[in-house]
Amino acid sequence: MKIPAVIRTFCPYCRKHTEHTVKIIEPSKQRRSLSKGQRRAERRRKGHGNHGRYSKRAISQWKLRTKTTKKIDLLLTCKECGKSHHRSIKRVKKTPEIVKV
Ligand SMILES: [Zn+2]
Repeated sequence: MKIPAVIRTFCPYCRKHTEHTVKIIEPSKQRRSLSKGQRRAERRRKGHGNHGRYSKRAISQWKLRTKTTKKIDLLLTCKECGKSHHRSIKRVKKTPEIVKV
C-alpha cells in the first residue's frame, strides 16, 4: 500500500480543506497484555518437548501469536496552522510506504 506524502484534507482547527503532511504511527508494543498466569503458562510451554503439559492441548508456535496484522494510524499535520490530528486506517499486513508525488 502506498500513501502520498502530502494530502489535501479537512483540518478541524482551520475548519477547511488544507494541505497536510503525512506520517505513519505504528502501535507501540503493549506491555503486560497477558495476566500473570498466562505469562507463566507461556514460559512453561517454551522450548522443546511436549507443549501440551499443564492441562492444555499442545500449542504450536504460530498459534501463540494471534494477530497477523497491525492497526496503523496516520498523523496529519496541517501546513497552515501547524496542528496535527490523527486518521486511522484499517489493519494492514505490511507497513505502507509514503510516496512523494
Ligand atoms: Zn489547520
